Amino acid sequence: MSHLRKETHALYDDPVKWGTFGIWEPPAFDVDGYQKRIDAVVGTSLGQPIVRLVWAWDKRCRESYYTKWDFTGKGTELEFEYKYRVARVPIGDDNTVDICPPRWLFEQRYEPGQYTLSWEQSRWAEKDVGKRHTCGRSDEQLAVETCDCEDVRARVELRPPAPRDGWYQLLWAAAEHDENRECCDRLYKSSRRNCWGYYRLPNDKDLERLQRAVKLRDADIKRVDPHAPMPPEAVDEVFRAAFIEQEEIDRRKDAELTESYRDFAKSAWWRIREAAGSKRLHHGPYHIFNNPFSRTKSGLIVPNE
Ligand SMILES: [Zn+2]
Ligand SMILES: [Zn+2]
Repeated sequence: MSHLRKETHALYDDPVKWGTFGIWEPPAFDVDGYQKRIDAVVGTSLGQPIVRLVWAWDKRCRESYYTKWDFTGKGTELEFEYKYRVARVPIGDDNTVDICPPRWLFEQRYEPGQYTLSWEQSRWAEKDVGKRHTCGRSDEQLAVETCDCEDVRARVELRPPAPRDGWYQLLWAAAEHDENRECCDRLYKSSRRNCWGYYRLPNDKDLERLQRAVKLRDADIKRVDPHAPMPPEAVDEVFRAAFIEQEEIDRRKDAELTESYRDFAKSAWWRIREAAGSKRLHHGPYHIFNNPFSRTKSGLIVPNE
């Protein structure tokens, strides 16, 4: 995991230590003050920032989905997952804990008008939701015996309804990288992971990059109405891209890393998971830079650093 050659931060630049207790707490930084500077460059939409600054461990960086349903298909158990996690550590009993990169992230807003329709269409699926027993067996018996009672199949909600006041996805992370992005290449070659670079605070460079992103957006002739619905394929693309990324990582499990996080995960799971755990990924941080969602009035076109 030593794809980073220089060390600028003893904790944040050593991925093996990303399972250190308390790492979820954002380092001291004037987030409100910096957010005001972002807003001055990029603006707001319906009163919300078009770009927001978040610590990757922020609760707002989680997506939720249902894992259990009643017979009508209504979700009864909600779980959460961190969008920008680098590892998912099993802690027994089918539970997992996400480990996130300690980085400040710039997230871009998507308008409800863009995603709500597609979101609604794609948040349902046919599933077996359990048996409605007519066999008369008690719960104790059912725990050890099987029966022939039929499964109830229902149209279940996979996720809660679309967020009403905007959906945010990654623009970029505040980080330094080696010249020619050599750190990213090294990491990709060794483990197919995406590089989170060297830790740094958000700074003027990010604001300048945002300024260029705004310029590119304003010059884009293919720009579309930010409140017009995007086709379901566009939403699917965002979801699917994330999945590919995740499967890639799963296939090449980084045993050393996961192992190093395990003790931490076991001792801190109650703090990290808040109320509920997380088992599956819907959205990931990458591949969405070029998606058609970004071609809107609020959507930015990301320039190189
Ligand atoms: Zn039965
Ligand atoms: Zn890198």
